[in-house]
Amino acid sequence: MFLPQEIVRKKRDGGTLSAEEIQFFVRGIPDGSVTEGQIAALAMAVFFNDMTMDERVAFTLAMRDSGQVMEWKSLNLPGPVVDKHSTGGVGDVVSLMLGPMIAACGGFVPMISGRGLGHTGGTLDKFDSIPGYSTVPDPELFKKVVKEVGVAIIGQTAQLAPADKRFYSIRDTTATVESVAMITGSILSKKLAAGLDALVMDVKAGSGAFMPSYEKSVELAESIVHVGNGAGTRTSAILTGMNESLCPAAGNAVEVRVAIDYLTGRSRPARLHEVTMALCAEMLVIAGLAASDAEAHAKLQHALDSGEAAERFARMVTALGGPADLVDNPDAHLARAPIVVPVPALEAGYAYSTDCRGLGLAVVGLGGGRIRPQDPIDFAVGLTGLVELGARIEPGQPLALVHARTEDAAQRAVREVQAAYRIAQEAPAAQPMIYKTIRP
Ligand code: URA
Repeated sequence: MFLPQEIVRKKRDGGTLSAEEIQFFVRGIPDGSVTEGQIAALAMAVFFNDMTMDERVAFTLAMRDSGQVMEWKSLNLPGPVVDKHSTGGVGDVVSLMLGPMIAACGGFVPMISGRGLGHTGGTLDKFDSIPGYSTVPDPELFKKVVKEVGVAIIGQTAQLAPADKRFYSIRDTTATVESVAMITGSILSKKLAAGLDALVMDVKAGSGAFMPSYEKSVELAESIVHVGNGAGTRTSAILTGMNESLCPAAGNAVEVRVAIDYLTGRSRPARLHEVTMALCAEMLVIAGLAASDAEAHAKLQHALDSGEAAERFARMVTALGGPADLVDNPDAHLARAPIVVPVPALEAGYAYSTDCRGLGLAVVGLGGGRIRPQDPIDFAVGLTGLVELGARIEPGQPLALVHARTEDAAQRAVREVQAAYRIAQEAPAAQPMIYKTIRP
C-alpha cells in the first residue's frame, strides 16, 4: 500500500522511486485518486531532484500504459512499424514527406502528431488545412490505412497516454515543464503508445528550438535514446539545426504546398532535403529496412524519383477523406490568403541570423497558430519565400512574402519579419543542419 504524499516526500528528499511506486502514482493521475496538489508537488520534486534512467523508464512505461497501447502484431504487416518525432520547429514540414517515403521503402508509419505549440507549427494543423482530410478517424480506419497505404498521419486521441495529458497541463501551469526527465517521459509515453518497433527522434538545436541550449538538446536526445531503448523500442536521435525556418515557408497550407512540391520533385529545398533524408535513412537503418546509411539514401532517392512516395501521400490523403487530386491540383483545394505583401529589407548586407522564434510568432500573430488552446486556425496565412541565412540582400529586396487575412495583420507581420532578420556586412559561417546522431 503506497501513499501519494509519501512518494512525494521520498522524491523531495532526493530518494529514488521504485517502479511500483511510480506505477501507483501515475495510475492515480487519470483516475483522479492523486490530487492536483500532489501531482504538482511531485513535478516540482522531480524538477529539482531529477530521475535516474531506471526511474525514467518506469515513468514512461506507466504513462504509456495509462491508456490504450496499439498493437500491430495481429495484422501480420510485412514490415516494421516505425515513426519519427520532432521537438518542434518553424517550417518543419518533414513529417508530411517522411511518412510516405518510409512507406514506399517498406515501413509502416502510424504517426500520431500534435498541434502547434508556442512558436512552433504542428503537423496536425497542416493536415487540417487539407479539406476533407480526417485527423480523427476511428481506430479501425486508422489501422486499415496504415496496413493498406503504409502510412497514416492523424491526431492524438483521448485514449492515448491520458496520464500525460493531465500531468502536462499541471506542469504547464506550475513552472515544471523544463525537466529533461519529465519531457522524456511525456514525449515517449505518447509515441510508444502507438506500438512502435523503432523510433527516430529529431531534437532541434538553435534559436527556434524548444530546448534552450545546444547542451540541453544533447541531454534530451541522450535521455530519449536511453529511455526508449530501455522501454523496448529501438530508438535513436538526430540533433538538427533550427536557427532558421527549415523550409522557405511557415504556416499551414503554405507548408502543405512545399511538401507536395518536394514529393513531386517540383522543388526540393536543400536544407529540408538534407534533414528529411537523414531522418528517413536513420529510420530505415534502425528498423532493419536498409543495411547502411548509403543503402538507405539510395532507396529513399528511388522512392522519390519513381513517384512512389508522392503516390503514397496521395493515397493516404484520399483514404482519410481528402481530395483525390490534391497532389496534381493543390491550388484547387488549399486555402489562399487574400493579401500577399513582400517584406522589404531595410538595409544591404547578408542575412546573418534570424530570431527563429520571432518568425514562428509572426505566423501565430497572423492567425496561423493559436494564442489560446481553443482558438481556430487560419490555414491560409503564413510566410513564403523566406530568405536563407547567408543570402546577399539589397535594400527593398523581399525577405519573405506575408500571406495575411487583413492589411493590419500583414503590416504587423512585415515589421515582425524585418525585426527577426539580422542583416550584417559579413556573411555568417555556414551552420551544419545535422549536428550529431545518437544511438544506443
Ligand atoms: N512536448 C511534450 O509532449 N511534452 C513535454 O513535456 C514537452 C514537450
